Amino acid sequence: MSRRTKIIATMGPAVADADSVRALVEAGMDVARLNFSHGDQESHDRMVGWIRRAAAAADRSVAVLQDIQGPKMRTGRLPGGEMELGPGDTVRMSASGRSGGPGSIPVDYPGLASEVRAGARVVMSDGLIEGLVTGVDDDTLTVRIERGGTLKERKGIAFPGSRLAVGSITEKDRRDLEFGRRLGVDFVAASFVRTGDDVAEVRKLAGAGAPIIAKVELAAAYENLDSILDEADGVMVARGDLGVQLPLETIPHVQSDILRRTNRAGRISITATEMLESMVTAMRPSRAEVTDVSNAVASGTDAVMLSAETAVGRNPVRAVEAMSSICREAERHRDIHMTGAEEVHFLESYLASTFASATAKAATEAARDLGFRTIVAFTESGGTAQLLSKYRPSADIMVFAPDPRIRRRMALYWGVTPIPFEPRASTDLMFAAAEKYLEKAGICKRGEGVVMVAGVPPNQQASTNLVKLHVIGERLRVFPRPAG
Ligand code: PEP
Repeated sequence: MSRRTKIIATMGPAVADADSVRALVEAGMDVARLNFSHGDQESHDRMVGWIRRAAAAADRSVAVLQDIQGPKMRTGRLPGGEMELGPGDTVRMSASGRSGGPGSIPVDYPGLASEVRAGARVVMSDGLIEGLVTGVDDDTLTVRIERGGTLKERKGIAFPGSRLAVGSITEKDRRDLEFGRRLGVDFVAASFVRTGDDVAEVRKLAGAGAPIIAKVELAAAYENLDSILDEADGVMVARGDLGVQLPLETIPHVQSDILRRTNRAGRISITATEMLESMVTAMRPSRAEVTDVSNAVASGTDAVMLSAETAVGRNPVRAVEAMSSICREAERHRDIHMTGAEEVHFLESYLASTFASATAKAATEAARDLGFRTIVAFTESGGTAQLLSKYRPSADIMVFAPDPRIRRRMALYWGVTPIPFEPRASTDLMFAAAEKYLEKAGICKRGEGVVMVAGVPPNQQASTNLVKLHVIGERLRVFPRPAG
């Protein structure tokens, strides 16, 4: 049985050559994340070329996820590239001036001094450093450091609890989304969205080609999760920034709640950040990290994400391999423990009221009741594949789809393996071609039962409406026409 949980790996300097990208694809990367907070258009363009070539060489559908920067406040240039901050130190933060000096930190947000009040909490570098705003004067904040550390350039700065007027899409995001359209990215991750309307705005700029993953990284986004789920194709639990905005100890149950609600809404769910963080330098993950990844799988995440581990880590390929084996082991235990009732209640019941989802549910139950290892589906839009995935069948989901862009979307669908396919004139011909492929590829054996799912009539965007219980090798027989 193949791995069901999908793996997203972030691209960066540690994998910035064709051979490294090929090695990540071979190790099991399903989705390559381009982080538009770093790099330039030229480097992203080159990276997409390597990803597409590596996927073609491995004969796999690997998706490209464009993660736009969003309105994240960051530190500007610092003398020597970094600054040591100790508890009790006083520093000035200002939006004016491109580079800092002793005791002075430039921040790239013009509204800083007019929107932040004395008494506000300030958190830097994903929670490493924390301070209190003790004074506001003209364009400068005075901050007393409470927890110190080494502050580097281009690190995030947040004011949890302060209501800032910052918009959801910056000029840079607009340029990057336009560039992403030209590159043909497969997904867009929308950073620092607060509501469903923010997601809809990103969708407008991204165009119809790329489904939108909303990153939940602000307290407001978690508060507005229902409206975000109405608009987004998927949700990422972006634990880095979320762990700055909310008390860290709340993150485990917030994560479980987001995953549960996202899955029940039929959307893609992703768990991200610091999953195997120690592997940035170490060759093996810590016990706590293994448990974290395993728990995310048990909580029903569709995909898990690697960030610094692959972007700047010393062992990017090992990180993907480790992630892959932890997921497989967690899935094996899920299959042993999950009851049929849990499987089919993964989706909200109202979603089961369409032809397509009732068909997907029936296929999931039939495969489980009959002990079949494979569900075979045919899709033009990918919708059937996503629905089947959301019912979390115990069987592998093999999906035949003619459009390569749609096959790449399946790189984020839990349990789905996309397979290229030439459209056929009838369902009988489709089933015959699929069983030939599955037998030849060693996925199914002759005499083995599978569940086939399709829309009839074929090739007409018909809603999925057919479940066939099929025995491999029972080939289509063509009878001569009766005379006369
Ligand atoms: C996060 O904050 O967890 C995240 C995924 O976003 P980024 O890496 O862009 O900060």
